[in-house]
Amino acid sequence: MIHEGGCLCGAVRYRISGEPMGSMVCHCRTCRKVSGAPVIAWLSVARETFTLEGPTTIFKSSPNVTRTFCAKCGTGLTYEHANEPGEVGVTICSLDDSNAFPPTHHSWLEHDLNWVKFGDGLPSFQQSRYGNPE
Ligand SMILES: [Zn+2]
Ligand SMILES: [Zn+2]
Repeated sequence: MIHEGGCLCGAVRYRISGEPMGSMVCHCRTCRKVSGAPVIAWLSVARETFTLEGPTTIFKSSPNVTRTFCAKCGTGLTYEHANEPGEVGVTICSLDDSNAFPPTHHSWLEHDLNWVKFGDGLPSFQQSRYGNPE
């Protein structure tokens, strides 16, 4: 199963060639600031299933975390943590079909804005379910 996505302007395109490892909504303050939005929904994929083409720019939001953006339009695309070299986080909302992978839980509720209410009944965690902040 192939899933594709890319940035708003179309300069960057990517492809996921395997089943994702997980999906979640991150409420941490770093995701909020880096996106200018209340939360980011992330898909975790195995690195060997992910390929990307086009002009990107990176920002290290912490010493261990590298985030990738389209160099032309700024769309947020990926998240990589040095402690998880086999994994890439991909923004679910940059997928061509963002309905394909509904999130399964929420992380970092302790950073949340008090007006963010999902009410979707999914498991919610005050910090990271997996222990990799920001
Ligand atoms: Zn772009
Ligand atoms: Zn986050």
